[in-house]
Amino acid sequence: MLSIVRIHNELLGTYGDRGNADVLAFRAHLNGVGAQVIDVSYNQPLPNSADIYLMGGAEDAAQSLSLHDLKSSGQLASAISNGAILLAICAGFQIIGESFINAQGEEISGLGLLEVTTRPGEPRCVGDIKIKSPLLDVELTGFENHGGVTTLGTGVTAFGQVIVGRGNGDGRTDGAYSGNVFGTYMHGPVLARNPELADLLLAKATGLASINYVDELAIEYAQWRRKVTK
Ligand code: GLN
Repeated sequence: MLSIVRIHNELLGTYGDRGNADVLAFRAHLNGVGAQVIDVSYNQPLPNSADIYLMGGAEDAAQSLSLHDLKSSGQLASAISNGAILLAICAGFQIIGESFINAQGEEISGLGLLEVTTRPGEPRCVGDIKIKSPLLDVELTGFENHGGVTTLGTGVTAFGQVIVGRGNGDGRTDGAYSGNVFGTYMHGPVLARNPELADLLLAKATGLASINYVDELAIEYAQWRRKVTK
């Protein structure tokens, strides 16, 4: 049974990223793999033995609360070292980095799971985004809405090169990844917009070489969004 943990949805749920967990569970079932979504709320113990962990976007205050809880438990780092996969969107991406500067101008140390740092930028990055990731043959689309501008360290690879939108803030790269830890600014939810990315994560989590169910409607929708995002 594949276990998918949705972390702090009541804090990291502002942008609808909770759907990423549902897409993973749905597509796992289509492939004959049993899956369960486990919601872990703020201040609840986080298991360190699940297969996939998901974090969504948030407003600044909620983001700081979530970080505080995750930092004090240390369980997410332990899950990653046990081989789990982590997909973190926007505020989630900033939380798992080395540090970010909050609205009060204070530098807050993050979880240090990805070598990235974030600072406030102007103007806010809001709108459609399209990227090309080295991880997949297809382009990926989403929606971004963030004030943070992120700089990548040498220990990570950009999640993608930006074709439309701002991504990490410079309009050149979006997100970052290292090993099984993935961060991106793409809401959508990104796995609903890009079923190929969901299947990539599922293949990694299950150890299957590929995930083979062809969901024609999802693919048709994804392709249409790629065409109209320009
Ligand atoms: N609060 C963060 C920012 O504005 C993240 C926003 C988000 O998750 N969409 O940069």
